[in-house]
Formats: sequence, C-alpha cells, structure tokens
Amino acid sequence: MQLPHLGRFVIDKIFKIPELTNFEIDKLEQIPLGYLRKNNKTMLGCCRFKNNSRWIRRNKRGEIIERGKDFWPYENTLGPDDVRKIDIHPDLLADPQWERLAASVLYHEYLHALGFRHCPTFRALESLWPDKDARLGTRKVKLNSPMYIRWLSRSK
Ligand SMILES: [Zn+2]
Repeated sequence: MQLPHLGRFVIDKIFKIPELTNFEIDKLEQIPLGYLRKNNKTMLGCCRFKNNSRWIRRNKRGEIIERGKDFWPYENTLGPDDVRKIDIHPDLLADPQWERLAASVLYHEYLHALGFRHCPTFRALESLWPDKDARLGTRKVKLNSPMYIRWLSRSK
C-alpha cells in the first residue's frame, strides 16, 4: 500500500470512531506523510510538530522559554495545524504482511496529531482501533501482540 492510500484508509476508519468526532479529524488529511530512516531500530512512526507550534513560548530574543507539557484536555493544545509531518518506518509499507500494523501505527500518530500524548486517554483511544490484532499500546500491550513480535523478528 502507498502512503497516501494508507492515510486515506486510516482517516476513513477514524471518522467511524464516535469518541473522536469532536476533534479536528477533517484536518488530518492535510498532514504530509513520509518515511523514517530505514535503519531506525526503535520507532515505528513519529509525529513531528512544527517548530513554532502553539505550545512553545519564546522570549523577545526568540529563545524558547516554555514548552507546553499538557496536551488534551487542556485549552490551546496542539492539533493537526501544528503538525509538520508524520513519518512511518519504510518496512511497514514494503511488504503487504505489515499493512495492518502500518495502519495501526498511523492511527497512533494521528492521535498525537490530534493533541494527545501517551496519557491514559490516549491509551483508551488507541484501544478503539477496529483491527484488534494490530492494536498498539503500552510496551506491555505490544509485547503481547503476536503481530508486533513478528515485526520485531522480521528479517531485514
Ligand atoms: Zn506515540
């Protein structure tokens, strides 16, 4: 599957998750998608925020003096407009056997784009991904997932 295709696929699923309807899900498709470096050992995906995204405050000299710690449900949190790019591990798209995992990874990154960090709410929303076998979560959840374990032991 190609990246734009994957994006469309995941966003269509997100539109069907009632718990997410109050967020800016219509803006998710504006986020550019790209690839992590192939030799990235630890990450499956990464949501990169803009340097001047809303949660950073600068002094007159332009130095960053404060970084927002609180994401949703606080006011003025990050949203899709603050995202520069989402990168996905290239191996996830190189082989059809990882398609379901790729979709779940992109769902995880889109949740970050909606303003969530790895808070309990994030984990609750993460567990709403309709493809149960591909669901991601805490490290413990991942290490109980046969699909994730297969990913870790894939031949490169
Ligand atoms: Zn994450």
